[in-house]
Amino acid sequence: MASVDLRSILGTVSRPDLSDDDLAALSASFETAPPSRIIGWAVEEFGTRLSLTASMTDAVLIDLAVKEAPGIEVVFIDTGYHFPETLDTVERVRRRYGLNMRIMTVATQEPALWEADPETCCSAVKVGQLDRALADKDAWLSGLRRTEAPTRALAPIVARDLRGLVKVNPLATWTDLDVRGYIADHDVPTNPLLEQGYLSIGCMPCTRPVADGEDPRSGRWAGLDKTECGLHD
Ligand code: SF4
Repeated sequence: MASVDLRSILGTVSRPDLSDDDLAALSASFETAPPSRIIGWAVEEFGTRLSLTASMTDAVLIDLAVKEAPGIEVVFIDTGYHFPETLDTVERVRRRYGLNMRIMTVATQEPALWEADPETCCSAVKVGQLDRALADKDAWLSGLRRTEAPTRALAPIVARDLRGLVKVNPLATWTDLDVRGYIADHDVPTNPLLEQGYLSIGCMPCTRPVADGEDPRSGRWAGLDKTECGLHD
C-alpha cells in the first residue's frame, strides 16, 4: 500500500483548524489505509479531545483504538431502552479492555415517546446525549461502515459533522467479512444478539431481527420511514 504524505496534503494548516477541503483530501487519502493508521492519525491530531462512540454491537473499533490510545474515552449512550444483552456487553467490553468509559444516562422520558414520536425520542435521547458527550471534544471516532445500509454507501472516512467537529469513520471501507475476520482473529467481544439475527442493534422497542439477505439496518424502526437516529448527521 502506498504511504501517504499527510504534510503534503495539509500543508501548513494549524490543527485542529482543518478546513473542509483538508478533511476531504484526508478522507480520500485514507481510502486504502488500514483503520489503525486512520485512528493513529486522529489520536495524534486530537489527543484527549478525541472520543470514540460505541453502540456495543461488537468491540472491533474499540479493540483497534485502544491499541493506538489505551486511555481513549469511549462513550456509550444508555438510552434506558437497551436490551439486557447490550448492557451486559458494555460491562464485558469495559472489563476486557479496562476502558476509560463514559456512560451517558438519560432522564426518564415520557413512557411512550419512542412509540408516539421516534424522531423526537432519538433526538432527545441519543443525539442530545451525544452532543453533551462531545461538548469538550474536537473529534470523534465512529464505527459506521458503508456496507451497513444504502444510506451509508457514500460515507466519507473523515468529514465535519453538524456540530463542526471532525468525525472519523475508520471502518468505513470494511465489509461484513472484514469485521467477522477481525473478530475471529482477535477474539473480539460481540453482542450475543448478533447470533439471534439482530445485525444492527439499537434500542429494544425499535429493533427487530432481520432475515438472511435483508439489509442489516432494516430491523431498525421497521415499518417506519426512518432509517437513522441522527447520530451520524
Ligand atoms: S431508537 Fe427508539 S427508543 Fe431509542 S432513542 Fe430512538 S426512538 Fe427512542
